Amino acid sequence: MEKREQIYEGKAKKVFATDDPELVIVSYKDDATAFNGLKKGTIAGKGAINNRMTNNLMRRLEEKGVPTHYVEELSDRETVVKKVTIVPLEVIIRNISAGSFAKRYGVEEGIVFDEPTIEFSYKNDDLGDPLLNTYHALALKLATKDEIELIKKYAFMVNDLLKGFMKEIGIDLVDFKLEFGKTSDGKIVLADEISPDTCRLWDEKTHEKLDKDRFRRDLGGAEEAYEEVMRRLMGDK
Ligand code: ADP
Ligand code: UDP
Repeated sequence: MEKREQIYEGKAKKVFATDDPELVIVSYKDDATAFNGLKKGTIAGKGAINNRMTNNLMRRLEEKGVPTHYVEELSDRETVVKKVTIVPLEVIIRNISAGSFAKRYGVEEGIVFDEPTIEFSYKNDDLGDPLLNTYHALALKLATKDEIELIKKYAFMVNDLLKGFMKEIGIDLVDFKLEFGKTSDGKIVLADEISPDTCRLWDEKTHEKLDKDRFRRDLGGAEEAYEEVMRRLMGDK
């Protein structure tokens, strides 16, 4: 397989074509952004950590029956994935109140929910990723009813599995964002990434934040937090 031209550069990753029309290579950057790109910086070593962590988790999710775009890790920063058409929905699952949920509903962070919640945003940077419900998603033809049902099912499966993987390493999974895509044969698969950029991860004992909130909120120690999650997840490999 051969790496070809860059087809996209996003805030955290670049995407390259390959000689196989069904495959692309994603390359993870150290660039960090928050608040829809208004805050910019870098977190040294983040690209490699997010790449390796995403791949580790996607392999384990796939084993448990969640179809993913993952194909093969090429290097610290680069991975071959199935090329998909991204469903323009950000799927957010929450187990504990934090971030925009706490702000929107005027509650403190850290309230443990009896049941996880799901919400969708329209993935559209120009509009600031507005929140929408499944009726809006259908009206906007972002996905079909069956696709939305499947996405919901997979998202809750990912939550159950990911919560377990994190608990094993002493971390509470607070909330996270997923993206799904459609392969050329119309199959819905989990795409994009699962990393401290896209999850809120709190140490179960100290409640220390081990995720991008360290960058968003200028708490310091973002590099160390990402490394800590990686170390617990993958040992010294
Ligand atoms: P953003 O576009 O939000 O700045 P990134 O910097 O992470 O985000 O860029 C990666 C882009 O690649 C995203 O738009 C994401 O939706 C897209 N993407 C993720 N997985 C795949 C895939 N398997 N095939 C095609 N595009 C993908
Ligand atoms: N999230 C993300 N990308 C986004 C928006 C949210 O990865 O564009 C993740 C975020 O890291 C958190 C979860 O989704 O783990 C919920 O985020 P929230 O809605 O609380 O928004 P935020 O506080 O990040 O504005």
